[in-house]
Amino acid sequence: EQQEWGTLKDEQTVSTDGRHFKVVANVGTPIDVLDARQTGAEGIGLIRSEFLYAGSEQLPGEEEQAQAYKQILTEMPGQRVVVRTLDIGGDKKLGMLKLPQENNPFLGFRAIRIGLAKPEILRPQLRALLRSSVYGRLAIMFPMIATVEEFWQARKILDEERQHLLDEGVQVADNIEVGMMLEIPSSAVMADVFAREVDFFSIGSNDLIQYLFAADRGDPRVAYLYQELHPAVLRLVKQVIDAAHAEGKWVSMCGEMASNPLATPLLMAMGLDEFSMNSSSILHIRSLINQLNTRQLQPLVHKALNAVTAAEVERLIRQAVPKII
Ligand code: PEP
Ligand code: MG
Repeated sequence: EQQEWGTLKDEQTVSTDGRHFKVVANVGTPIDVLDARQTGAEGIGLIRSEFLYAGSEQLPGEEEQAQAYKQILTEMPGQRVVVRTLDIGGDKKLGMLKLPQENNPFLGFRAIRIGLAKPEILRPQLRALLRSSVYGRLAIMFPMIATVEEFWQARKILDEERQHLLDEGVQVADNIEVGMMLEIPSSAVMADVFAREVDFFSIGSNDLIQYLFAADRGDPRVAYLYQELHPAVLRLVKQVIDAAHAEGKWVSMCGEMASNPLATPLLMAMGLDEFSMNSSSILHIRSLINQLNTRQLQPLVHKALNAVTAAEVERLIRQAVPKII
């Protein structure tokens, strides 16, 4: 099967009824960029920029960050590269940054909440991104956006830094797309409002599901509640996709659910535009999409959205798409 997938590396991702999708890579370390290229990723849908900070004693400066982003953009010519601003806190700790002990770290001081409270961290990162933007097709996204005000604030800081750079005579691309992680239920509920503000959404299913079921994504005792195929998840994902498309915006998914082959028929039939995943899953998911027909899958979507349990959804999928197993 691996060999069959080999020929898929240079192919497009298109359903049998002619709908185009993008299967792109998640990047957590610089070496992942090489894997992405070698496995035929059609771009990078998520750079977890935390990796830049992980090994070092101090936060890397603006120049060092700009060099790292420039290198990645240069290695992905013509393809979109989505960089997420620093997402720490929760389960992700950085040694050099002293953060308070919290009773509920996943509900506490993390991601954009830190970025907005500590602009001395967010601003240099945004300046580095803006400076690198002339070397490729950069998109920037903010993690853990819960309210529209947070997005406005982050966007304002980005616009200010762009103006500062232009005033200093530094070149900045004028086609940078600005989006957000859709990973908090409040934002999913308000997706129609957010869709007017952003260029794109990236659904963070890992956190979205954790917060939806109030079940810690790392706790095995509550893992049974972590159900990617649950109708509650599917309804929310559909609502987000529809809201974005109503405003002409595109939607990616960069959580683990994007590489779950059981979810693929539903996600493509609901119109998800981009699937972002570890490179090792790319050819498998592309091969599935290329064998399926979004129009023929509509009855499955309808039944899944009206199902009662995740187990029922899984049965429906296996019935409708036997070759998935
Ligand atoms: C997610 O929440 O789905 C996601 C992609 O972000 P992370 O796993 O880095 O929190
Ligand atoms: Mg997340």
